[in-house]
Amino acid sequence: MAGCKPGSSPNSKAEPGIPEDGTLKGGFFEAGNLKRETYTESSRKLPARTFDVVVAGGGTAGVVAALASARQGAKTILVESKGYTGGTIVEGGTALHSFFNIWKAFPGVEKRQVVRGIPQEIIDRLMKVGGTAGHPEMSVGADFDSVCTAIDTELYKLITFEMLVESGVYVCVNTLLTGAIMDGSAVKGVIAESRSGREAIFARAFVDCTAYGDLAAYAGADFTEPNDYDVCNSIGMGNVDITRLYDFFKSRNDIYQLCYGTRGGEDNKIIRIQGRMVNVPDEFKKAADEIGMTMTTTTMHDNYLMFIKFNMKVPVSPTNRDAVAMTDLELRKRQLKGVELFKKYIPGCEKAFIARTSPTLTIRRGRCITCDYDITHEDVIEARHFDDDILSYGFHDWAPTYMVRDGKTYGIPYKALLVKGIDNLLVSGMMITSDRRPHMSTRNTVSCMGQGQASGTAAALCAQKNCGTRDLSYDLLRGTLEKDEVYFEG
Ligand SMILES: Cc1cc2nc3c(=O)[nH]c(=O)nc-3n(C[C@H](O)[C@H](O)[C@H](O)COP(=O)(O)OP(=O)(O)OC[C@H]3O[C@@H](n4cnc5c(N)ncnc54)[C@H](O)[C@@H]3O)c2cc1C
Repeated sequence: MAGCKPGSSPNSKAEPGIPEDGTLKGGFFEAGNLKRETYTESSRKLPARTFDVVVAGGGTAGVVAALASARQGAKTILVESKGYTGGTIVEGGTALHSFFNIWKAFPGVEKRQVVRGIPQEIIDRLMKVGGTAGHPEMSVGADFDSVCTAIDTELYKLITFEMLVESGVYVCVNTLLTGAIMDGSAVKGVIAESRSGREAIFARAFVDCTAYGDLAAYAGADFTEPNDYDVCNSIGMGNVDITRLYDFFKSRNDIYQLCYGTRGGEDNKIIRIQGRMVNVPDEFKKAADEIGMTMTTTTMHDNYLMFIKFNMKVPVSPTNRDAVAMTDLELRKRQLKGVELFKKYIPGCEKAFIARTSPTLTIRRGRCITCDYDITHEDVIEARHFDDDILSYGFHDWAPTYMVRDGKTYGIPYKALLVKGIDNLLVSGMMITSDRRPHMSTRNTVSCMGQGQASGTAAALCAQKNCGTRDLSYDLLRGTLEKDEVYFEG
């Protein structure tokens, strides 16, 4: 496969507990070093089903893609390996960045909600069950994101699953996509496996929202594995007195971000807090650095911090199963150490405990899939739009170093979702955009959700018109997205 060397990275850096070359040493990991033999699988008949659209991965982008596709009338199947929908949005992040332009960083600029449509509908549904405070404005740190959209991650899983079923999506959770069936340069079907067996699923159009780009890779697409981010497993920490924790950071002039909203059914409560970690005890700071612990956190509930992150670099790509196993173990050790640090040094956390972890580590990117267009740094910061925009977006995770100019938005073009060399495969989510600087914008949750609405809609229209993704009329796609409340600037 051109452009890739799976499992390797030029940026390898050893972390404690992880050998630099990623080979496995010690204990049960020795099994990974045993000499490999081969086995030839015999061919067998599989049960097969036919749909209009297959969406691979029911995470941040995939949920929205499947909803959009089914609502266009396409017979849609969603294949998700975990037992719930939501993906990294319910496992890794803190707040959903961002439904708005970053108006507060640019005095005089108008506040605009730039991502609407299905992503906003999910927020509306969540609000009804107390699963979000909506989009309250930040009190401190508003030049990073001017609002804080925090969500109850467990309710997000429930609400999105319900919405998918209501929209007629055939939701296959606990089902791993393991292969692609090709017909020349078109994907004809996918192979999926679950406890109900191995099966073939045929369709006319396909959307890869697996974050890792699994379907695109199986289909033979070009990709790179930059391995240029830390991986993470964040914890929810229970038994935290948020007022005392706030008082501690405040008394040390160490508040970096702060937002008030509805928490536990009461208004005007802290829902986001980030310490700068500058004026905290040196012992805490040093030990936190050693275990890659950061605390930008949000909360919807009293006595609970939803996200304390534990980050580390894997020496090889996070598509390497055995390196990921070692990293998972190391991160879980660090989580325990981290909670002990909070208990010892931060008032209000004396009886804290780990209330939840992610089922496996979360990634900021795995494979980067080569598409017809690769969004550039200049496209983002210069607020460029394209004549085939499918989304307007204004957030940059590297603010204030890099921001979209003057509180404006840039456009994500349709061609950035079209997998190069494949006729009927779209991608959405963290796997688009190869340069890390624009990726620090396009990978964020609300961008992924917006991309999902566009790719799901496009896939359904392609199936309806029986055409390839490049033959779809942009006017038809744009008109359909506008009718479905997608907002365009530029
Ligand atoms: C630690 C961390 C913190 C972050 N913080 C923030 C933040 O504060 N705000 C923000 O906006 N963004 C944040 N991000 C970025 C953002 O959360 C992600 O980039 C975004 O959620 C990715 O969405 P996605 O749809 O590409 O992937 P995901 O949401 O990960 O969805 C991929 C889905 O595909 C499934 N899947 C994978 N392979 C297969 C397969 N072979 N078969 C079937 N299913 C499969 C997975 O189980 C998953 O459900 C953070 C990311 C991380 C890792």
